[in-house]
Amino acid sequence: MTSPTTPAASILNADLHCHSVVSDGTLTPEALAERAAANGVELWALTDHDEIGGQRRAAAAAKANGMRYLTGTEISVTFANETVHIVGLGFDADDAEMLKGLHATRGGRSERAMEMSDGLAKVGIKGAYEGALKFVGNPELISRTHFARFLVEGGHCKDTSEVFRKYLTEGKPGYVPHRWASLRDAVQWITSAKGMAIIAHPARYKFTPNEEYALFTEFKNHGGRGVEVVTGSHTAQEYVKYAETAKEFGLAASRGSDFHSPDESHTDLGTLPFLPGGLTPVWELLADRIQ
Ligand code: AMP
Ligand code: MN
Ligand code: MN
Ligand code: MN
Repeated sequence: MTSPTTPAASILNADLHCHSVVSDGTLTPEALAERAAANGVELWALTDHDEIGGQRRAAAAAKANGMRYLTGTEISVTFANETVHIVGLGFDADDAEMLKGLHATRGGRSERAMEMSDGLAKVGIKGAYEGALKFVGNPELISRTHFARFLVEGGHCKDTSEVFRKYLTEGKPGYVPHRWASLRDAVQWITSAKGMAIIAHPARYKFTPNEEYALFTEFKNHGGRGVEVVTGSHTAQEYVKYAETAKEFGLAASRGSDFHSPDESHTDLGTLPFLPGGLTPVWELLADRIQ
């Protein structure tokens, strides 16, 4: 499955990770598609967090802008007490089990958001829940990003990364631990819906080498088949490191900006380097799922 492919297969402007107003992005699926196409993207996927409500619009907008399309999502998972993100690509967006699983994963977000707001109130930031809601496009999908936008707007921090550092990460006043989907369930929802499960931005997790090894091993055992190698959240050295990991575990490689907003994201759609050679791009294995 992971025999090195022709270098030409890697040279495709595929952007298989980004967010719209259906989760925590600021652009509509249509505006994202236009922006992706203008930046030269040839194969696109919209991967909203725990939600596939934007897929039909995204696929239609991809077509209207001359791009090929893969269905997408990014599922929140709890593994070894850390939040891990699993990208799903090329699944059937009408699959009932998948829809049910994503709905359940979104389930606890409102309650968590109210607790986050209570935590922020204790350090003098009032009305954060209502404030964050103003930035929410999908009421089931209130996320830390929406709180971050509210705190920037209120002048508490200069940008969203400062908000995460000071308020929204472990040990900080607005952080509320949360139990997401299990790794097994997330991979199963995607694969039973004929899609491919992919570990998103692996360098972002604070795992020891042993925990990371366990993540990749269990992921493969559950039927996971890919890993993001070139992503907006990796450095150039991390591209090299995770290209090696992909080979070691026999995983296909993905590429995606993780674009959220023109004002916040440092990596625009379609502007990352191509995948390194010697890897199997996920789109080769998903050829029959491309729309
Ligand atoms: P949630 O799913 O509500 O826990 O929110 C997670 C989202 O917060 C991620 O998908 C990112 O969009 C955003 N995020 C996480 N960490 C950071 C960070 N350090 N700076 C900016 N955004 C972040
Ligand atoms: Mn996000
Ligand atoms: Mn993510
Ligand atoms: Mn993402």
